[in-house]
Amino acid sequence: MTASDDSEKAPGVCENCGELLSVWVARDGTVRPISPHNDCSCADPSLRVVDEDDVFEAPDEQFTE
Ligand SMILES: [Zn+2]
Repeated sequence: MTASDDSEKAPGVCENCGELLSVWVARDGTVRPISPHNDCSCADPSLRVVDEDDVFEAPDEQFTE
């Protein structure tokens, strides 16, 4: 039972400085830094999830086209 939290941990990156850090990703796509203090030194970091060759198994998030 791991559905108590809607967020899942994922590798993220700050687009401002390129710093890699771990982030929480909510179901609605909201990205939050795991640490209360951002790992990078940006005053206003632009965090996004790293989405390269790493394939995450997320069968419940399928977009039907
Ligand atoms: Zn940054």
